[in-house]
Amino acid sequence: MSSSNQVEKVIIVGSGPAGWTAAIYAARANLNPLVFEGAPSSKNEMIPGGQLMYTTEVENYPGFPNGIDGPEMMQAFREQALRFDVRVVSENVTEIDLKNRPFSLAGDEGTTASANAIIISTGASANWLGLESEKHFRMGGLGVTACATCDGAFPRFRDKPVAVVGGGDSAVEEAMFMTKFASSVHIIHRRDKLRASKIMAQRALDNDKIVMEWNSTLEEVLGDDKAGVTGLRLRDTKSRETRELPVTGMFLAIGHTPNTAFLNGQLDTDEKGYLELEDPYRSTTKIEGVFAAGDVVDSVYRQAITAAGMGCKAAIDAERWLADQGIE
Ligand code: NAP
Repeated sequence: MSSSNQVEKVIIVGSGPAGWTAAIYAARANLNPLVFEGAPSSKNEMIPGGQLMYTTEVENYPGFPNGIDGPEMMQAFREQALRFDVRVVSENVTEIDLKNRPFSLAGDEGTTASANAIIISTGASANWLGLESEKHFRMGGLGVTACATCDGAFPRFRDKPVAVVGGGDSAVEEAMFMTKFASSVHIIHRRDKLRASKIMAQRALDNDKIVMEWNSTLEEVLGDDKAGVTGLRLRDTKSRETRELPVTGMFLAIGHTPNTAFLNGQLDTDEKGYLELEDPYRSTTKIEGVFAAGDVVDSVYRQAITAAGMGCKAAIDAERWLADQGIE
């Protein structure tokens, strides 16, 4: 636990592409930023580095002609920030007061800090269906996970059939990844057309190991505590009939929820829960001195490159706002 009476110029909450880019820019503007990078926790899906920590190859970030692993890329972002005047607290922010100035916050290990400006870049976390059986088999490596990259290489999935739930780019990416290990990968989608981009969808449809389970929803994860997942009960959305699909694992890829709970409603959100910016072309929120960047505000693009761009804008906006307040 640590705390000081020092009022920081700027605190950055979150350590994905937006957070680290904001840190690099803020440090180079002499703002000596403090980054709350998060920490793995059972209560929370956020991890330091954000969603790219769950990604394999990133092929669309300019500057890496041969692609780069997501975790390796986030390590590089972090190292680049630490080359400058950036300090890091490895805690999740659990409380924040944006009503009084200077703003103040507290981490889950007891560190407290205050700042004149705050940049929120806490990203978004994976969604779950909310079934009891899904929750049950999520524990203890029994076969349900939202991260093929983290768990896909486990022996229980090797040369066995597995399932991915979802129809977007993430579902296709997870399914493609699992074809390296599993004997077959069943994509369970509630409609008869993938939401994924055309090129990704075609890759899935062309892959001999991928089987599409169209118009299907998950009713129950089947199995027991010894064997883990042994199958899924699916319902056909058209005929309403149920069927059992034998698999040893299920990977959830049904989208994400922005990580805003710690804000306790102090900033406005849209109907999907994403933070609302005061001006969509900038990073300003309805509270002067509070800026937001990355997937926590972006339900449209959600790319590493756009998040990094927003992090840059937030640092520049914070720098200019602080200068207007006479804080440089
Ligand atoms: P997404 O595009 O929102 O897709 C979520 C999928 O899950 C949809 O197919 C949706 O079905 C399904 N779904 C949602 N809730 C469900 C529920 N309760 N039960 C069953 N199915 C449900 O999310 P995403 O795939 O995570 O992608 C998010 C963003 O990241 C997108 O912009 C995507 O392009 C981007 N992304 C890009 C890459 C890449 O370029 N390499 C990789 C991953 C993600 P419906 O289609 O019926 O709504």
